Formats: sequence, C-alpha cells, structure tokens
Amino acid sequence: MTTETVKTGHPKGLWVLFGTEMWERFNFYGMRALLTLFLVNSLLMKEEDASLIYGGFLGLCYLTPMLGGFISDRFFGNRNCIMLGGLMMAAGQLFLFASASVFSTNMGMAQSLMWTALGIIIFGNGFFKPNISSMVGSLYPKQEKSKLDTAFTIFYMGINLGAFLGQLICPIIGDVKDSGGLRDIHAFKWGFLAAAIAMVLGTIIFALLKNKYVITPEGKPLGGLPSKRDSSDFEEGESEKAVFSPTSLIVALISFVVLFFAIRYCISGTNVVKTIIYPIIYASGLTLAGLIISDTSLTKIERDRIIVIYIVAFFVIFFWAAFEQAGSSLTFIADNQCDRNFFGWDMPPSMVQIFNGLFVVIFAVPFSLLWDKLRAKGREPISPMKQAIGLILIALSYFIIANNVKDLGNSGLLGIKWLILLYLIQTCAELCLSPIGLSLVGKLSPKRFASLLYGVFFLSNASGYALAGTLGSILPSTGDKFLKAKELGIDLQAVLDKTVTPSADQLQLLSDNHISAANPVFVGFEIHNLYEFFMVFVVLTGIASIILFSLKPVLKRMMHGVK
Ligand code: GLN
Repeated sequence: MTTETVKTGHPKGLWVLFGTEMWERFNFYGMRALLTLFLVNSLLMKEEDASLIYGGFLGLCYLTPMLGGFISDRFFGNRNCIMLGGLMMAAGQLFLFASASVFSTNMGMAQSLMWTALGIIIFGNGFFKPNISSMVGSLYPKQEKSKLDTAFTIFYMGINLGAFLGQLICPIIGDVKDSGGLRDIHAFKWGFLAAAIAMVLGTIIFALLKNKYVITPEGKPLGGLPSKRDSSDFEEGESEKAVFSPTSLIVALISFVVLFFAIRYCISGTNVVKTIIYPIIYASGLTLAGLIISDTSLTKIERDRIIVIYIVAFFVIFFWAAFEQAGSSLTFIADNQCDRNFFGWDMPPSMVQIFNGLFVVIFAVPFSLLWDKLRAKGREPISPMKQAIGLILIALSYFIIANNVKDLGNSGLLGIKWLILLYLIQTCAELCLSPIGLSLVGKLSPKRFASLLYGVFFLSNASGYALAGTLGSILPSTGDKFLKAKELGIDLQAVLDKTVTPSADQLQLLSDNHISAANPVFVGFEIHNLYEFFMVFVVLTGIASIILFSLKPVLKRMMHGVK
C-alpha cells in the first residue's frame, strides 16, 4: 500500500480490523443475548442469580483487558494476542455449546462446563479487545491522526453491525418457542455454536489478511512481537512508561486487600459472584486510581486533569449499570411480560435487544456529523457535558417505560414498541457517552499514564456492569410468576403484600418454582412492582446527570484548556 492510498481514504487494514471485530462482537453479543435465558431455563437458576452472574461476567470481561494489554506490550504483541483471544473465545463458546447439549442428562457437568466457558471467554476477551482497538490507532501515521475520529466511528459501526447480526442469528436458532409460547430449552446450543463459528471466522479473516493489509504505509507489519518492533513504531514520547516505586506498589497491594474486605463487608447476600467477584472489580478500580493519583511525579495540571477523568469515570458507572439491563432484566421482561408482536411476528425475547446495535449503525455517522457541525459553530459541548447528556437521556428512557408499566398490573403485557423506544433513546445516550469517553481519556492523560488511565476507565465500565448485576437482581416478580403461583393455588400478590401468610408447603412450592415470596429490597427500599424498579434507574442516572451538569465550571477549569 502506498502513502497515496492512505491519503485518499482509510487504509485497507481498517476494513480487516472492522471485519475481525464484527465477527468477534457477533460472537460476544449473540451469546450475551442467550446467556441469562439459558441459565434460567436450562440450568434452572433463579433470575436473580442469572442477573448477578451476567453482571460479574461482563465486569470481568472489562477487568481482563488490563492483563491482555500488559501481556501484549511486554511479550506477545497485538497480533498474537488477537488470535489467541479469538481462539479462546471460540473455545469458550464451544464449551457453552457442550453445556447446553448435556444439561438434561448431566446437570452437574453442564454447570461445570458453563463456568469453564465463561472463564475462558473472560480471558479471551481480555486478550482480544484492547489489542484490536489499539491496532486501529496504530494504522495511522502521525500526519494522519486527524482521521482517527472517523476511523473509530467506522470501527464502532463494525462493533454494532456484529452485535446486530449476532442478536439476529443466535436468537433465531437458539431462542425458540412454539406457537403456544413453550420454549425449546434444547435449542440454546445452536445459538452458542453459531457464536463459536462467527469467532472462528473472525480469527481466520485476521490470520489470512493481517500480513497483507494490517501494515504501515511503508508495508511493515503492525502489532508484531515487542522485541521485533523498531523505535519508529512509536510516536515521540510514547514509549515513556510510568514507573512506580516498590513502596507504592506494596501500599497499592495492601489497599486492594483492605478495600476488597471493606466492600465485601458492605455487600449483603451469599451469592459468591456478588460477594467475591464484585468486590474484586470495585477494589481493582479504586486501587489503580489511587496508585496513579498518588504518583509524586505528577504536576498540578496533570493531577487536575486526571481528577476530571476520575469524576467522569465515576458517573459513567451509573450509565453502564442502567444500560446493561439489556441482557438481564430487560430480556426477562421481554420474555415474561411483553407483547412481542412485531409486524405480525412474535419476536424471540432475546432478540429485542437487537435495536441497540441497529440504531448505532444508523445513527453513529449522523452523531459524529452533529458534533462536527457544532464544533464548527463553536458550540460543541465539552466532553463531560456530553456524558451528562448521555446520563439524562438514559434517565428519560427509563422514565418513559416506567410510566408505561404503571397501570399494567400483574398480568398486563408491555407493548414491544416501548422497549424499542427505550433502546432508541439509550442508543442516542450511548453515542453521546461511549466513544467520547474514550477520546476524553486520551486527551486528558499524561502520556506516561495513558494506558493505565484507560485501564481505570475500563474498570469503571466493569464496575458499572457489576452494579448492573446487582440492579438486575432486584427485578420484582413479572407476570409469569403471578400466573404460575395462581396455577399452584397461591395468590402471590397477597403473599407479597403480606395480607396472607403462606403455609410452609406453599413457601416450598414457590421456592421450587423460583418464585420469591417477598419483594426485592434495594438500599432499604422495597421494590413492589416494575414501575418502582424502573424508577430506580431514573433516580440513579438522573441524579448522576444533574451533579455532573452542575460540576461543569469546575471540570472546565480543571481540564486546563483541553476540550
Ligand atoms: N458496545 C461497545 C462494545 O461492545 C462498548 C461497550 C463499552 O464501552 N463498555 O465494544
């Protein structure tokens, strides 16, 4: 490839990375659509536990990129890590395929296979995700860096095109119900197999095309082994690395342990994901943030800018916690209390989340043009304000749906159009917040701390996912539970209202059918119905947004000229 072709458009390597990431996200989001339904319907878990596992799984997927980035930098290089991560994720999906194939004859084995699968996918994602994103950046020589924003917009569309395809194909073959609404609990395996095939395809595309296209304008391979990289691969100053003293590292380690136990102490319940994994995620983020900010080499301006990153990262937690209900509580609602008639077709419940990916593909370019236009007029909001807009939009999406479930009662069905509207508004929110957050970290970070600060930012996403798990687990009983209880001869509403006291036998029956005899409680508030459940998200993201808006003058000052 000549420098000329690079000048006229985007390097062909971008399309190779686009295709690789597209198939990888097909695999990830296709599986994510089915995961909680599989856990509940085939592995017979409670919805509450499935939501907690889902949050922990996603959270760990955003913790391991720190490790993947580190191993790539020191030992394997981007290319090898992408292939290793891709193969691991494909293997993980095959384990899920096996789990979904054996559960009816050997539940114990199915559960072990499922845990192994999630573990392999978590590490596979950790190898794959940071390395493919950083390769997009390295495709562009210094004089072409202005094209990076567009490059990342194109790449973000690849992510969501993959998500869209995965959430189309995997539910069609994996989330199958008959005309009477009865689910084929043996079908999930086909969805996981499709996800595995997609990942193998993505890895093959990358393996075959990387040497030809993922190269510098001079034709040298990008992302090779660290020892083989020559210094021209780096930008000036880019090789500068943060060096922490042994004392700071020991203090960090002790802080991690103390934070882990302190957070664990505050979390109630017995679920190990909640009491072990969540504290690990929260404590890692706080420890890393503390380690960086206490570095004595930081100047006042650098420290101020890092604090801005931390403030934004903190508020972003509430965004992802609300956004990531898609694969848990919102899927359970789509399954159990929704009229999914979509132009005469009964859409599989796990497919309803497809509207997010679809809307990103449609709106990513208009949004980036909107920011360009506002910038040209000098009216583009500073990045933290875009984050605040994202938060207020997500609060609005939940406010609308809360008001539409208000009068549903125990058996009324929520129209699918309200979930589609919710995903439309949440997609606009995502486009205000997600791509912008990443570039904000890039702009505010001192170079020597950039990758670690990206790590903090990813850990804030991970914390958001952990919180998403906790919030998903407070979903009150949906319509199906009231119906089932009625079949068992129990008035569930009366039990929940405590106007009748169920007998020991009735309690056992409810528990056998995974129906809770008490309403869920969140920070002391009892959640009586779906309206109150959705209002939790309105309140959390609404308050976060208002505080972030009100911090504008302070943040602007602390950014010291960075937009
Ligand atoms: N949907 C995007 C992806 O899958 C962004 C997710 C995130 O940043 N947390 O890559």
